[in-house]
Amino acid sequence: MSRPSHTGIGMTSARTRDRLVQRLREQGITDLRVLERVRVLPRHIFVDEALASRAYEDTALPIGWGQTMSQPLIVARMTEALLQGGPLGKVLEIGTGCGYQTAMLSPFAEKLFSVERVEPLLRKAKERALELELRNVRFRHGDGMKGWPTQAPFDGILAAAAPLTMPEALVQQLAMGGRLIVPVGPEGQQQLIRLTRRESGIHRESLGPVAFVPLLGGIA
Ligand code: SAH
Repeated sequence: MSRPSHTGIGMTSARTRDRLVQRLREQGITDLRVLERVRVLPRHIFVDEALASRAYEDTALPIGWGQTMSQPLIVARMTEALLQGGPLGKVLEIGTGCGYQTAMLSPFAEKLFSVERVEPLLRKAKERALELELRNVRFRHGDGMKGWPTQAPFDGILAAAAPLTMPEALVQQLAMGGRLIVPVGPEGQQQLIRLTRRESGIHRESLGPVAFVPLLGGIA
């Protein structure tokens, strides 16, 4: 079966993508680097062909194994939140999923490390990363709650699934000046949190209510 092309036609065309970018602007995304990345990055290659026509709607979409790919607005907000505060050397992503957020982040980091607990999802995400020629990404099948200790410390850590409480291991793996963006809390009561490690200690900000799948322990 042929795959939809990167440029796309009809519902995956440049005009459709421009409309998504416009919508993100209206929703408060101001970082032009992030908006440009959303515009050039094909989202339809991350979902089943049957869903490709919905890939540029600002909505979460199913990716199998009971998981969803995050809504573009939330991917943009998290990326923007991570970029604020200085350049990103090493970045750790937890919950690769389909790899869309990974592809969003790749040009903004020197090195990107991405951990996923569901093996088949990770395999597909790796294929897409190859297809998009993301050369600075390393993937790992594992429990992201533990971080990636051998590569720590990180200038940025971003979690795409919500733990009930702040995962201490991730906080410990933050470099000086590093930012951790993580949704925290039980379903229906999650807040997007940004922790920044400063000389004076850990600084905590709440970036508003969000709805993520739970961060699960172990691997699948
Ligand atoms: N940004 C991804 C979001 C996928 S949903 C995307 O747009 O596709 C969150 C992902 O986190 C799921 O794929 C889920 O399997 C994964 N996940 C949940 N708990 C995890 C853990 N402890 N370690 C690694 N990945 C985890």
